[in-house]
Amino acid sequence: MILPIFTYDAPILRKKAKSVDDVTPQLKKLIENMFATMHEASGIGLAANQVGKEYAMTVVDISVTEDNENVPPLVLINPEIMGAEGKIVFEEGCLSLPDLRSDVVRPEKIGFTYFDEKMKRIEREADGLLARVVQHEIDHLNGIYFFDRLPPITLSLLKGKLAKIRNQKVETSYELATPEEMGITKRVKGKKVRL
Ligand code: ZN
Repeated sequence: MILPIFTYDAPILRKKAKSVDDVTPQLKKLIENMFATMHEASGIGLAANQVGKEYAMTVVDISVTEDNENVPPLVLINPEIMGAEGKIVFEEGCLSLPDLRSDVVRPEKIGFTYFDEKMKRIEREADGLLARVVQHEIDHLNGIYFFDRLPPITLSLLKGKLAKIRNQKVETSYELATPEEMGITKRVKGKKVRL
């Protein structure tokens, strides 16, 4: 099942996700739906809060990108960065921020831990695109967008685009959640009033 994707500035995308202690049948179903939703939207990573669920869980699949055909898809439950090395610039986008792209500086190589679908704890290292996606998704689980990592001057240039996203004045090839579904309080447009 394809799930509508939550966008800026849905309150759940600013919350720290809740730790998962059991992979229930419902959670398994959610994982399946998240993969379907991510693939449908041509994304390579999707965090549970991007589909409105408060779980510390994300799916990643970079096998659709060049030179990564052999990298298996990953389900990361309660993932955490344990160490980082180097710095590198990479242009990021985000399914929750349609049309917004920017160069972001992040560590080049990371060590991280997570639990897999069988709740087995795994420790591993990553570099390249995988390191980038994992960092981006773990940020989501902590309520952080990639634009939070930009210098203020760069961010100020993106303000107009962010306003468009917030007002859902963007076209996407995938389904977005409605303001009601995202729990966004409606804004009164037009007249400035004094109360
Ligand atoms: Zn994202």
